[in-house]
Amino acid sequence: MQRYIRMLREGKLKITPRREAILAYFIKEGKYATPEQVWKKLRISLGRLGLPTVYRNMEEMHQLGILVKVEGVENRFYYGLCRAEDPQVHHHHIICQGCHKVREVEGCLVGSLSKQIEAKTGFKLTGHTVHLQGLCQSCIIADGG
Ligand SMILES: [Zn+2]
Ligand SMILES: [Zn+2]
Ligand SMILES: [Zn+2]
Repeated sequence: MQRYIRMLREGKLKITPRREAILAYFIKEGKYATPEQVWKKLRISLGRLGLPTVYRNMEEMHQLGILVKVEGVENRFYYGLCRAEDPQVHHHHIICQGCHKVREVEGCLVGSLSKQIEAKTGFKLTGHTVHLQGLCQSCIIADGG
């Protein structure tokens, strides 16, 4: 929790009960969720909590690198905690289509391809996002059993 609080401070975001509750939700659940899912859980304990507020707070945390945003099934965006040692260091994430659990993928798989892409397109690559999806170990077992 402390490192995420520190990241909020460094990003000049106030530590509010709402932001703390959102962080606590993700730490406890350990998987990705849509703003709607977070809102449904938190509005009971926080009261008078609007979905747009949750959405905005999550988006702000995404900008700071605390929450990762990935496109999941049905073109919906899922947010989850980045658990990398240093979230600022470029890396990727893979999302389980079964349970929405997310794993860090260290290093970059695109780096070695960038020269080829640049040669083919004449573009100078400035960045990328990679959308990795699959089934985690427990979902493979559940699927096959
Ligand atoms: Zn990460
Ligand atoms: Zn899974
Ligand atoms: Zn990469």
